[in-house]
Amino acid sequence: MNLELSEEQDAVRQLAEDFVAREITPHVVEWDRAESVDKAIVEKLGALGFLGLTIPEEYGGSGGDHLAYCLVTEELGRGDSSVRGIVSVSLGLVAKTIASWGSEEQKRQWLPKLTSGEAVGCFGLTEPGTGSDAGNLGTKAVRDGDDYVINGSKMFITNGTWADVVLLFARTGDTPGHRGVSAFLVPADAPGLTRRTIHGKLGLRGQATAELVLEDVRVPASTLMGPEGKGFSVAMSALAKGRMSVAAGCVGIAQAALDAAVRYAGEREQFGRSIASYQLVQELISDISVDVDAARMLTWRVADLVDRGQDFATAASTAKLFASEAAVRAANNALQVFGGYGYIDEYPVGKLVRDARVMTLYEGTSQIQKLIIGRALTGVSAF
Ligand SMILES: Cc1cc2nc3c(=O)[nH]c(=O)nc-3n(C[C@H](O)[C@H](O)[C@H](O)COP(=O)(O)OP(=O)(O)OC[C@H]3O[C@@H](n4cnc5c(N)ncnc54)[C@H](O)[C@@H]3O)c2cc1C
Repeated sequence: MNLELSEEQDAVRQLAEDFVAREITPHVVEWDRAESVDKAIVEKLGALGFLGLTIPEEYGGSGGDHLAYCLVTEELGRGDSSVRGIVSVSLGLVAKTIASWGSEEQKRQWLPKLTSGEAVGCFGLTEPGTGSDAGNLGTKAVRDGDDYVINGSKMFITNGTWADVVLLFARTGDTPGHRGVSAFLVPADAPGLTRRTIHGKLGLRGQATAELVLEDVRVPASTLMGPEGKGFSVAMSALAKGRMSVAAGCVGIAQAALDAAVRYAGEREQFGRSIASYQLVQELISDISVDVDAARMLTWRVADLVDRGQDFATAASTAKLFASEAAVRAANNALQVFGGYGYIDEYPVGKLVRDARVMTLYEGTSQIQKLIIGRALTGVSAF
């Protein structure tokens, strides 16, 4: 792998950095306090092609490789993880999965809207009773003539109240466990589908996280995506690539922590000297820097594997595990550099700590990533 970015990759990274400085950074504190990002950001992301990265142009995508996608995700995560998550879900988990698994009709129906930002997608896997054990989900889709009738509920769904389409996982037939799960593209305005915003999150406060309840939601059989009973494979393939974008977002958090810590250490004086001159402060900063570099390299490795058509799932779990734990450490170390000022939301590092904390939980907890890596190494599944 060549670690030097191509001109195109560097240009798209710069475009994302400029976009963050112009459209995101000035609003970050306000959106965090209001518990809502301005939804107009979606069309702006779409206009620059950030919601169509890696999607073929014939479906409205902006093409590009997975390293470019990671560079943009990193810059967005450096600016605001709430915005980064909108892209990681609507493009990363939904549009990219439709591009891989959808029928021609489904691709034509949803991809141009999702890539332009006219529509938002959400990913409905987790339920109140099944998080890590997603293969045992209980939402049921029962065939009735040319339709399916869906009943159940979904928990912690990112973009839930903003979404126009839900990539929904439900049990079809009587087969227990993950073999009985199917994937559906459910229009979010389908009668019987209600959405409730979840308030009071520790971090990612600007993001629309929701609980979805489905009561006799009737959808045509044409909304089934991929073969019946293959929904869990759809979900796992989406999450493997999703972990790459979470890892990239975590690199962005850690880089933001590094930038803030270096800047503040240079400005703040104690005992008549810059705190940057103290070796224990330099240790905090160098620890953050090592975490940034290592997390970025692991993430780029995944992008390289995906672009070369190689198996990437274990590498994606490795990158997600390391980068998410690194983001938590980095943000926490940066807060230490800021002292008491780090604890107030006028300064950026407190939000980085809060936003980083969920990264070791969603798209597979750190424990689940370790089990995936352990299974790949030993050949024995702990699930
Ligand atoms: C802000 C936010 C956004 C989210 N967005 C989405 C979304 O868009 N779509 C979606 O479908 N889901 C989403 N989720 C859900 C997320 O993926 C789950 O929270 C996550 O998978 C963990 O499930 P759980 O919360 O039920 O925890 P549990 O599965 O109950 O886990 C609790 C603890 O037990 C541990 N544990 C569980 N099983 C094992 C095991 N076999 N071995 C060792 N330890 C184990 C876990 O690691 C964890 O420490 C989101 C969550 C949050 C908080």
